[in-house]
Amino acid sequence: MNTQRSSELFAKAKELMPGGVNSPVRAFGSVGREPLYIAGSHGDRITDTDGNEYIDYVCSWGPDILGHAHPAVIGAVKRACENGLTFGACHEGEIVLAEKIQAHFPSMELIRLVSSGTEAVMSAVRAARGFTGRDRIVKFEGCYHGHSDGLLVKGGSGQLTGSVPDSAGVPAGSTENTLLARYNDADSVETLFGRFPEDIAAVIVEPCAANMGVVPPEAGFLQALRDITERYGALLIFDEVITGFRLSAGGAQELYGIKPDMTALGKIVGGGMPLAAYGGRREIMEQVAPLGAVYQAGTLSGNPIATAAGIAQITEIERTPDLYCELDRKAAVLEAAAVKAGLNVNRCGSLMTVFFTDKRVTDYGSALTADRAEYARFFGHLLDNGIYAAPSQFEAMFVSYAHSDEDIIKTAEIIAHYRKENRYGS
Ligand SMILES: *Cc1c(COP(=O)(O)O)cnc(C)c1O
Repeated sequence: MNTQRSSELFAKAKELMPGGVNSPVRAFGSVGREPLYIAGSHGDRITDTDGNEYIDYVCSWGPDILGHAHPAVIGAVKRACENGLTFGACHEGEIVLAEKIQAHFPSMELIRLVSSGTEAVMSAVRAARGFTGRDRIVKFEGCYHGHSDGLLVKGGSGQLTGSVPDSAGVPAGSTENTLLARYNDADSVETLFGRFPEDIAAVIVEPCAANMGVVPPEAGFLQALRDITERYGALLIFDEVITGFRLSAGGAQELYGIKPDMTALGKIVGGGMPLAAYGGRREIMEQVAPLGAVYQAGTLSGNPIATAAGIAQITEIERTPDLYCELDRKAAVLEAAAVKAGLNVNRCGSLMTVFFTDKRVTDYGSALTADRAEYARFFGHLLDNGIYAAPSQFEAMFVSYAHSDEDIIKTAEIIAHYRKENRYGS
């Protein structure tokens, strides 16, 4: 495959942007390749600047659940543009979108629209602290909640307290109130509450983890978090930035039947535009300015183009009754192919990860046993066969409604033909 134009653009980009990119994983660093420059997208395909076409399983990291350039979403955006790109003032689209979100996420009694998942989570945590008057939060190793200072902690070596920031430039003081627990290990949460029974404002969790590769919650885990937080008067925050409108129209909370106190949404809810949302119980959200003392604002929050895209996408989701069945069926075909090839797969609906380890992956520790070099080979095998998957072991493969049966079968065959080197285990 000729990718010369992409190479030239990447060389130029590196002179202008750190690592040539505007978000690190796009640099393809962990798979030993150079990034492709995308010229266009349609349905389940993306095309690079050299004219090569790929079946895409990144789907912009989730937003494109209906496929790329969906006509209903594009049409809504075009119409909205005619009226101006931003008002910095109230408009009806904000209400329509908030109503739609609430119809699917009834736990979000009051909703605030923002512009990124990072902002949604950061603001939800601030509101949780404002409401409870407590400073500490519990997060899980391997869960990603955006790049705000206080949440940039994964911790290593099973260290459960005294969190060390994951990034340079984050003062230790910014993460000293962030406690770490192990995913799928409710006892590790119980232990932290035992130590700090009156200090923990909230437990924040990806209800199906998808940022250490896909790690579904084991039976009883989310319910245990609900029980523990209630017992200690702390809030439960579901970061559904990936899972919202993905695992079901009502997200993981609908799928697993657990009602969190607060929820953060992003990705799908904006239809591909920079839009995210947070919300929760009315009494908590009443702490947010201008009603309450928790300050949070945004020049482009509730932007009319972004709300138009979100409304159109959710409307399309509502009009597609077989959406989640179809996503599940298609992803199951890919999963079966990987299993046939002897690969270790975690899947939750249309999110899946092939892990190059013999261990069952249930948390960050087991995810880290995966062989990244072997993943890089797998990634190269897919790419060289016209399949664009996540350029990192610790991300998900996303299936969209636009993936045709033909392309799914083609992908399944290519996966099934992968011969692993099996350097990682027995
Ligand atoms: C993507 C993601 C975020 C951050 O959203 P951005 O829009 O990239 O800031 C937060 N939480 C989860 C679970 C995510 O997957």
